[in-house]
Amino acid sequence: MGDATIIDGKAFAAALRDKIALEVATLKAAHGVMPGLAVVLVGEDPASEVYVRNKGLQTLAAGMHSETHRLPGDVPEADLLALVSRLNADPAIHGLLVQFPVPEPLSQARIVAAIDPDKDVDGLTVTNAGRLASGLPALTSCTPVGCMMLLQHALGSLRGKHAVVVGRSNLMGKPMAQLLLAADCTVTIAHSRSVDLPGICRQADILVAAAGRQEMIRGDWIKPGAAVIDVGITRLPSRDPVAAAAGKTRLVGDVAFEEARAVAGWITPVPGGVGPMTIACLLQNTLIAARRIHGIEE
Ligand code: NAP
Repeated sequence: MGDATIIDGKAFAAALRDKIALEVATLKAAHGVMPGLAVVLVGEDPASEVYVRNKGLQTLAAGMHSETHRLPGDVPEADLLALVSRLNADPAIHGLLVQFPVPEPLSQARIVAAIDPDKDVDGLTVTNAGRLASGLPALTSCTPVGCMMLLQHALGSLRGKHAVVVGRSNLMGKPMAQLLLAADCTVTIAHSRSVDLPGICRQADILVAAAGRQEMIRGDWIKPGAAVIDVGITRLPSRDPVAAAAGKTRLVGDVAFEEARAVAGWITPVPGGVGPMTIACLLQNTLIAARRIHGIEE
């Protein structure tokens, strides 16, 4: 049994959702504005179904308007883009996201490009990515925002710390690195072509693992006392063969948790760490978008 403090993302996210619900109520009472989130789901991916259902339920629980648009997997791209365009123009909608991945031959790049940057609550448009990189107010990808909240809650100031981000996707690794840089960290971004990944990780005061490779990061890759944020999610069959036969699964992160907690200073578990923060930050982004669209001070 190690010494690392376990960062309880589930409790943090619950408190954040309560705070957002209060702010939504104030926004409605003071300005008559009800934030609205539209989620577009294409095809029938079971994991995406679960995410989208949870997003809808938590949006309603925060007192916001929620819409889910389900399209068949073989929808023509023009129909999907027409829906995005309608939602861009809909005054009841302040946040709009398309659940990725979408089935081929739909183009994620063309879909993202069609989203109004003011409603882009996943922070994927070139406009929001550029604003983030330029230090301007932006809508920023939810999971990295959630990771920053957990880190700042655990560590306080991040100034001067060496942060290593494993993964360079537009949704996760790149915005994570930008946020850490803006918080005055020295940032290294590692990826599948990096040489000596264990050696790079061992330099990290803050290690953010977002590769999607189950338990790749071992205990001896971690600097003693480091803060370890495990973003990775891999769904495996349950350890119990009877439960596994019934289709039950378990979630595993990118970090070998038991080994890592013996070395790290702080660590997020999977599940119950970063995961719950993502939807809470999506609600926050929808609230921010609603305020900005209506010109209401934050
Ligand atoms: P992604 O688009 O597949 O990107 C994965 C990144 O990891 C890529 O940059 C890839 O490098 C890098 N990588 C893959 N294998 C590697 C290896 N062996 N060594 C070093 N780097 C490696 O995935 P993503 O959307 O960023 O998501 C990453 C993980 O986070 C997934 O497990 C996903 O399920 C999880 N996730 C969780 C949440 C949440 O709410 N908790 C939200 C978003 C994502 P290259 O660029 O060189 O290919």
